[in-house]
Amino acid sequence: MRGKELAARLRAKTGATVEQLSQRAGKRPGLAVIQVGEDPGSTLYVNNKKKACEEAGIRSYGYHLPDSVSQLELLALIDQLNQDSKVHGILCQLPLPDHIDEFTIICAIKPEKDVDGFHPVNVGLLSLGRDCLLPCTPAGIIAMLKAYEQPIKGQRCVIVGRSNIVGKPIAQLMLREHATVTLAHSRTRDLPAVCREADILIVAIGKPQMITAEHVKPGAVVVDVGINRNEQGKVVGDVDFNSVEPVASALTPVPGGVGLMTVAMLLQNTVDAFCRIEGLTP
Ligand code: NDP
Repeated sequence: MRGKELAARLRAKTGATVEQLSQRAGKRPGLAVIQVGEDPGSTLYVNNKKKACEEAGIRSYGYHLPDSVSQLELLALIDQLNQDSKVHGILCQLPLPDHIDEFTIICAIKPEKDVDGFHPVNVGLLSLGRDCLLPCTPAGIIAMLKAYEQPIKGQRCVIVGRSNIVGKPIAQLMLREHATVTLAHSRTRDLPAVCREADILIVAIGKPQMITAEHVKPGAVVVDVGINRNEQGKVVGDVDFNSVEPVASALTPVPGGVGLMTVAMLLQNTVDAFCRIEGLTP
């Protein structure tokens, strides 16, 4: 299941929606992207997000702050962006330097501008099964499974990894789609046996190529969320592609899989936030 063509199609569709909505509203959606420090990974992600915005007709406003910025200064910027009527989405690229508390920053973003879907209000709404801004990577996984016509309802889904940004929200979304969900993590006993129960196996652990054929039931659908560098410096997933490909019925590559869907969903979230804030029906 490739992300490249699918994500490009979704971005183009969002671009067309942006044109229509902007004419009706007399203004364009705007996304503020905050980066703190010089982490090369963050710079790459931030640049990709800004470029994708521009291609879709969404205005992007970049704020690159030095590593030394204080939490108070960052909070003041977020407060200003919360009030700014040109800005419909605010994204603060994680991770942040140690002297800044990520949770405090996430909580400072207005829930209706929280296009990452990390604010406790959006997390709570998601767990209640209510309408909200969805976290981008989990939303991208669901979009991918649907686009590739993989059935979800009634399927046994095992998710490896229970982080707040991937594992837990994808579990909520798979539940919403009527899958039977198991969340596995580093304390799970006999992980290979648990994984082999899965019709859909979603892996988000951050361990290069840890998941092999012994974790996969023949014919299972495998979604690899991991983005890691192996010892040779090559970008690889959490799944050992060569070992799993002959066993799985479908598998996402890394790079070129879920990561591209994340950016496509960010654009979609920005448009959703724009519609809600400006009172437009999409
Ligand atoms: P975290 O480090 O926050 O969480 C990792 C999770 O994996 C934890 O729940 C941990 O368990 C579990 N885990 C770690 N080691 C094992 C193990 N040996 N066996 C079973 N479970 C294990 O990671 P993230 O969720 O933030 O990211 C995971 C991966 O996904 C990373 O490679 C990251 O780069 C990538 N990623 C990709 C995105 C994309 O757009 N494609 C977006 C976000 C992340 P425990 O809780 O018990 O410690």
